[in-house]
Amino acid sequence: MSAQIIDGKQVASNVRAELKQRAAKLLEQGIRPGLAVIMVGDDSASEIYVRNKIKACGEIGIHSEVHHFSGSATQEEVLNCIRALNQNKHVHGILVQLPLPPHFENNSVITSIAIEKDVDGFHLYNVGALVTGNTNFAPCTPSGVMVMLEQHHIAVEGMHAVVVGRSNIVGKPMAMMLLGQGATVTICTSRTKDLAQFTRSADILVVATGRPKMITAGMVKPGAVVVDVGINRLPDGRLCGDVEYDTVKEVVGYITPVPGGVGPMTITMLLSNTILAAERAKYSKHSK
Ligand code: NDP
Repeated sequence: MSAQIIDGKQVASNVRAELKQRAAKLLEQGIRPGLAVIMVGDDSASEIYVRNKIKACGEIGIHSEVHHFSGSATQEEVLNCIRALNQNKHVHGILVQLPLPPHFENNSVITSIAIEKDVDGFHLYNVGALVTGNTNFAPCTPSGVMVMLEQHHIAVEGMHAVVVGRSNIVGKPMAMMLLGQGATVTICTSRTKDLAQFTRSADILVVATGRPKMITAGMVKPGAVVVDVGINRLPDGRLCGDVEYDTVKEVVGYITPVPGGVGPMTITMLLSNTILAAERAKYSKHSK
């Protein structure tokens, strides 16, 4: 029997409808949630991502602004911009579009963002908060995966979750979130010996490698939940994930497609974190 498809567009649309209401409520109270995006250089993929984020903000009532620096800008110039945004009460969320040019030190830039405005959840404080179970802002892609599981009433507690990939933005925080929900978690990397032995034992398999169609039908457990984070462009221009969708969906219980799976959730969770930041700012102002 073919798997149930976890439709990321549908889940994202449900979440965005709720976010729109929260944004409207804030506006009634005189607060327009605001997101500032910092971009350095002219990476074409980054330009598309930023454009999509700005468009999504507009659709749910979040003010957004882009601070675009040339690729030759200095780190100090960017830090000055972040310092000003940290003080700007109309800006509730700040994100730095990665990658930065090689002469930048990522951590110095990210940790200059005020913790309460770090809507990407990449600040070292927020990473530590996630690891210790005191989540402040969680990274958007794995948060989106958790919401997809929740909306499909997929139990995490007690399950064996296998995460393939250990990046700071997807694999590691994904593993922490699954662990936080009571899963038994295995993290696999490019160094893992006999990957299939691990993936075949997964009740929940999350794949984030950037290796097109590397997970095949023989590598999954019948009935498992498979979440494909990968986004890869094939030579013919089409997009595909890290999972061989057509064959794997005949074996597993649930699967996310690419495109239309995790992708739409990432921006949705950015919007969610921005609204949350604005709500918290309002609360902290009123409690002073
Ligand atoms: P990175 O390149 O930072 O990390 C890839 C990870 O995959 C590494 O940890 C690497 O292991 C591991 N890996 C690579 N090859 C193998 C292999 N053969 N077997 C097991 N592990 C392997 O990528 P990201 O985490 O940033 O992104 C992963 C994918 O997700 C990409 O396709 C990206 O485009 C996509 N993505 C999608 C998003 C969305 O919104 N849907 C958001 C962010 C990313 P090692 O550490 O040992 O090198």
